[in-house]
Amino acid sequence: MTVQEKLLILGEAARYDVSCASSGSKRVKEKGKVGSTANGGICHSWTADGRCVSLLKVLMSNVCIYDCAYCHNRVSNDVPRATFTPEELCELTLGFYRRNYIEGLFLSSGVVKNPDYTMELMERTLTLLREQFAGYIHLKVIPGASALMIHRLGLLADRVSCNIELPSANSLALLAPQKKPQAIIEPMRLIKTANAQALEDGKKFRNAPQFAPAGQSTQMIVGATPDSDLTIMTLARAMYQKMRMRRVYYSAYLPVGNHPILPVSDVPVPLLREHRLYQADFLFRFYGFEPSDLADDRHPNLDMAVDPKAAWALRNIHHFPIEINTADREMLMRIPGLGQISADRIIAARRLAPVQWDHLKKLGVVMKRAQYFLTAAGKFCGKLQPDSPFLRDVLSDLRDPEQTSMFDAPKALPAHEDAPKVIIGRDTRGALLYEQPSLADSLPPSNSIRRIDGNAPYAALPQQAHGFAV
Ligand code: SF4
Repeated sequence: MTVQEKLLILGEAARYDVSCASSGSKRVKEKGKVGSTANGGICHSWTADGRCVSLLKVLMSNVCIYDCAYCHNRVSNDVPRATFTPEELCELTLGFYRRNYIEGLFLSSGVVKNPDYTMELMERTLTLLREQFAGYIHLKVIPGASALMIHRLGLLADRVSCNIELPSANSLALLAPQKKPQAIIEPMRLIKTANAQALEDGKKFRNAPQFAPAGQSTQMIVGATPDSDLTIMTLARAMYQKMRMRRVYYSAYLPVGNHPILPVSDVPVPLLREHRLYQADFLFRFYGFEPSDLADDRHPNLDMAVDPKAAWALRNIHHFPIEINTADREMLMRIPGLGQISADRIIAARRLAPVQWDHLKKLGVVMKRAQYFLTAAGKFCGKLQPDSPFLRDVLSDLRDPEQTSMFDAPKALPAHEDAPKVIIGRDTRGALLYEQPSLADSLPPSNSIRRIDGNAPYAALPQQAHGFAV
């Protein structure tokens, strides 16, 4: 088999692993070698399905003795198999780098013979490569590998990672019975300890060897088992705290086979769920949220219609609107649409004078969302009150997007006072009830909103927009 044929098989087989973003490693160009890494991370582009492509992302081998039900490369799957020799993979990486196709290598593998044998193949490849290549290398540790092999490879790679794969021990026992939780957790502990030790040594000795300077990451498959988002987020939070993970990646389950214990569906797990988990991950890493803020036993899954921060705000509406001139940083960052930078700018600005509503746009606050949840110097200018029953629909990402024309002039919005009133129902005596005047501009054309006659969805109503103008 030619190297090109192997590359076709092993490149295709590697695409299911999403944990390949690279950053945080620093290695300057060395004399006689090509490549370097920078603190800013390797630039990478993304394929249409969201996968990173600027690293040469490939398997050492797709031969595997294990039979993980969710995996394309499992032993029971009848697919063409190939294995690179260390020399072939080294040549390939250098050739691609010189042609400017890639900026680094992401190397994973099936389990050939046993975990240590596979790690030895990878170690020989990386040793050869490091003689000429100082660029970024992300290496997947094989669960069950010995501490010695993990340590040797950690000295050669920039980032090492061990996939946790599934969010609970029960799920792992069901879908990947040959992988034991301990065989996954133990390498993570080893990597964490060796990385911390190398950092300490680096402070004392200038030439102390680095161990996985870009840290470790892991990946979880979402949707192959009934585990809830709360379970996934709680585990991810523990990974960040206890294993000092740089990143936890979430990978929506892609049906790659018809194993009898996998969910039977033609529809893959929506990428929106993966997206919501990334948003939640961001909130508990940088915004002081806990997984229990975002989901609980009654509602263990994230809301697909609104982002997790807005969903939290809607569930805790008694906190809103928040006065931005007096709220602390933590509360400011809980306002939907308001990020860390905007919160810091508000805090800096209010030291000089109270921040007014007009200042917020200039400070970079995204008012599209934030307007409903804050007051500035006591003034509230949101189109809907925070406790309005329509706010969730207004904030929903699932509304039918309205395609704006590239050529027509934008439609002028009716002035607040002149806006048509909207009938929202009748009281117990039959008198009409109206929503506030600006509501007609804010309501989404959503089929989920049923009012007026109590049955007809908006789409079924005559062209009266969102209600009857009176
Ligand atoms: S050990 Fe890795 S490559 Fe082998 S079947 Fe399991 S997930 Fe796939």
